[in-house]
Amino acid sequence: MIKALMARWKQGYRTMEFPSAGLMLPPRGLGLPKLKPGRLEKAAAACPYGALTAGEKPGLDMGRCIFCGACANAAPEAVEFTREYKLCASGRGALVITDEDFRRAESLGAGLRRLFGRSFKLRQVSAGGCAACEADCNVLQTIGWDLGRFGVQFAASPRHADGLLVTGPVTKNMELALRKTYAAMSSPKVVIACGACAISGGPYAGHEECAGIPPEIPVDLYIPGCPPHPLTILDGILRLIGRVE
Ligand code: SF4
Repeated sequence: MIKALMARWKQGYRTMEFPSAGLMLPPRGLGLPKLKPGRLEKAAAACPYGALTAGEKPGLDMGRCIFCGACANAAPEAVEFTREYKLCASGRGALVITDEDFRRAESLGAGLRRLFGRSFKLRQVSAGGCAACEADCNVLQTIGWDLGRFGVQFAASPRHADGLLVTGPVTKNMELALRKTYAAMSSPKVVIACGACAISGGPYAGHEECAGIPPEIPVDLYIPGCPPHPLTILDGILRLIGRVE
């Protein structure tokens, strides 16, 4: 026991401060994009997933983007990725970046904030995901991030959950499980689509085996990325329950 205590004393306090001034994605991370509309043709042609469009309605859809950086490499004068990690949105349309200001996710209404603001349990469903988004959600429970200090925890049963966090493109094999999980949660409940696959199908968009999140499961928070960085996931969840502004 004394050895364990000594080791802990030597290691010190390992949990990062969040939010903190100047916090950014690591140097190689790709965050909020900045576009120069009117010069996007070359960048759009380099995008393997059709997330970037030029022409009359130029925009970069963060819900489809896998943040591979190919567009910025092809046309650095037209697309730049900042290290801004606050990428979550409340509406699907807000994820399309144009030359206007990005509208970040808003918190739930006052009633739901009162319910979930200090204790928010999430049920995670990996609906055909590759385990990258799942891994970055898992990271949030390690000592470096300590999600539990904000009152947010992953629950072992949908019966105990306030929110459903979906990862993966929702394959047809997982569609029923997702519907059943949502139905098993008591109301009020919220839904979070985490990662490009859950939001739009990502690299699997249009595949015959991918169903997507059914329309009767309304999404309250979109967390873009492939996978999203843990900073982005944490910011989105805390923004939703009104713990950060
Ligand atoms: S970073 Fe996004 S928009 Fe750019 S090429 Fe990759 S998927 Fe397309």
